[in-house]
Amino acid sequence: MMHIFCPYCGELREEEEFHVKGQAHIERPKDPEACSDAEWGDYLFFRNNPRGVHHELWIHAVGCRKYFNITRHTVTYEILETYRMGEQPSITGETKADPTTQAKGVSA
Ligand SMILES: [Zn+2]
Repeated sequence: MMHIFCPYCGELREEEEFHVKGQAHIERPKDPEACSDAEWGDYLFFRNNPRGVHHELWIHAVGCRKYFNITRHTVTYEILETYRMGEQPSITGETKADPTTQAKGVSA
């Protein structure tokens, strides 16, 4: 059983209480009427799919029902941090080295 820390409830809760809602920090175009079809399509459908640190939007669906963000490693599934909406992650791909690379002893 995996537990996830809800930054609003302030406690670890069972993963079944949560749902992932996709990539976090996606900014809506400031002037949608001025977007080309290609720009609007990019906003709606194209998402990052990194191997490594990824920021995701989650909801505590069966708890406080609030959205928050998770920084997760897509290779190890490790949750590195959770943070409230409007906050910035303290861990990014630049600050967290890839543990799979370290495990193999590969130097950059
Ligand atoms: Zn909560």
